[in-house]
Amino acid sequence: MTVSATLAANEAIAARRAAGQEVLALGFGEAGIPVHPLLSQRLVQAAGQIAYGPVAGIEPAREAAAGYWSRRGIPTDASQVLLGPGSKPLLFALLHAAEGEVVLPAPAWVSYAAQSHLLGREPIRVPVPDGEGGVPDAALMDAAVREARAAGRDPRIVVVTLPDNPTGRLASEESVQALCETARELDLVIVADEIYRDLVFKDVAFPSPAKWAPERTVTTTALSKNYALGGWRVGAARFPDSDLGRRLQESVRGIASEIWSSTPMPMQHAAAYAWSDPAELVERVAMARRLHGSVAKAVAEVFAAVGCEVRAPQGGFYVWPDFSPLRAVLAERWGATTSADLARVLLDEFGVVVIRGDAFGDAPEALTVRVAVTGIYGESDSERLAALVSNE
Ligand code: PLP
Repeated sequence: MTVSATLAANEAIAARRAAGQEVLALGFGEAGIPVHPLLSQRLVQAAGQIAYGPVAGIEPAREAAAGYWSRRGIPTDASQVLLGPGSKPLLFALLHAAEGEVVLPAPAWVSYAAQSHLLGREPIRVPVPDGEGGVPDAALMDAAVREARAAGRDPRIVVVTLPDNPTGRLASEESVQALCETARELDLVIVADEIYRDLVFKDVAFPSPAKWAPERTVTTTALSKNYALGGWRVGAARFPDSDLGRRLQESVRGIASEIWSSTPMPMQHAAAYAWSDPAELVERVAMARRLHGSVAKAVAEVFAAVGCEVRAPQGGFYVWPDFSPLRAVLAERWGATTSADLARVLLDEFGVVVIRGDAFGDAPEALTVRVAVTGIYGESDSERLAALVSNE
């Protein structure tokens, strides 16, 4: 195993800064919003809770997560919820519990494929519908899964990311619905990674697969992006109310019991508060959404202005420019012909850190990069940002 591309970029930044060089760090997906004091209070109040907790999570946090989903149109009982130290380990446990190969959209967040490799399974990558992100094209998935099965492979699970990292796009209802139907025909479990769900810029109907494939969709969320609390490490999975759902949940609980035992207790109390949607936090998330939305739009316009192909971001905090229209000049001036070369040129010549597109499963010669726009808020701006949020 090598260190995750996003964390490796962080290390490159630290080395350059230590050498006194200026760097604009647009690599790592950090939400970049100061913590709300009410959340810190909950955490501190629970600091004395030093014992291990129940594997699935404490009841108030599971109840709150159930309420969070129910208010967002996915009726949920606390018994369907399992907490973990971030959604990343929950996703790994889900891939493990599915006992087969995983179908991923291309491109997709770096860790799904890496986790699949950890399990010794090569992911099956399926292109997304034109101009969309986060969801494999249903017809192409159908063909890819049937072909894989004919070749003796055993795909059992498909992951979708809504809204998407790295493209910043929110898949259309039609594409998600088609994916749900195809997944049912192929008997695939759907994992809906909805970690950026509350950061969709426009007020649109959210295309949760749990609406159309309730019997086979596991939905995940976390405090990391919506509430900007990545370092607190709390995530949650919602399992379907079906035999399949209960089997998966039991298996993930078993894996959890052997790997992380329980989710940190004080953080679970903060999560119970956050997921109950108190007005102050709802307003804080709305502020973050407006900020990410306006910065992402401005950043996309900059890339478009220099000649990249780039779609308007719809949620989260990423922009995914494609430099192919500049292929000739990149090759001629800097000898750059791959996304790895491109990321190197942006760092060496311009001091800008981005993540190379091939880390997300794009072909190496596709000249794409992922830009995390929250890096623009930067450390130097944290006081200004804190002032902004305190005036919200
Ligand atoms: N899913 C997606 C799409 C992400 O971008 C991330 C973090 O970058 C995660 C999951 C994992 O987040 P966490 O483990 O903090 O819940």
